[in-house]
Amino acid sequence: MTTTHFSAPTRRVCGHTDNASFHYHSSKARQDEERYARYSLCSDCSKQLRSAWASAPAAQAVAESGLPDLWGGSAKQQAWADRIRRSRQQLVAGFHVRVVETQDPLLELASLTLDLMFRIQDQGFWITSEKASFHVDALKVDMELLLKGRLSPLDRTMAGSVVGYWLQADWSVINSLARDVSDRIKPRLAGEPSVAAPALMQTA
Ligand SMILES: [Zn+2]
Repeated sequence: MTTTHFSAPTRRVCGHTDNASFHYHSSKARQDEERYARYSLCSDCSKQLRSAWASAPAAQAVAESGLPDLWGGSAKQQAWADRIRRSRQQLVAGFHVRVVETQDPLLELASLTLDLMFRIQDQGFWITSEKASFHVDALKVDMELLLKGRLSPLDRTMAGSVVGYWLQADWSVINSLARDVSDRIKPRLAGEPSVAAPALMQTA
């Protein structure tokens, strides 16, 4: 089986165009890769997000308040889910503080996506998502889904996906958030060139 490699200028979900690389061995695979490229962030936005995540200050102790009550399952399961949720909150605390302070549309979207996660009160989500471990790339996938917009409960999402949870639990939450993202965040994101990675991280 021959694999074809090529790169082509591709308009991404953030509104920027960059060169995406494709490696495929069938026309079906080619379509999948092209769809994936269209619905993902450009390389500059991805770099900006990863660098903001990697350079976030270490978390201080997180305030004990601000999380909604959990529901579902036994008291024991709720306590377990709450521990997972609080360790997740601790994990993202430094990054979250940084993104809420910024006017940058990409990081504002990251902040909205994190807020959406901490609105989840179903203990089952937290217990399931412990296995799916959380990292910046999981956040990125959810941000890309919100930018894509026009989501429906039939959209397939990965285990532990925040957007996937809300699509199943209460589609209207995603519907109104995606509208906000497309009205308020997307035009700013597409209009501004994304901020370059800090000089220290540039290799060229
Ligand atoms: Zn971009």
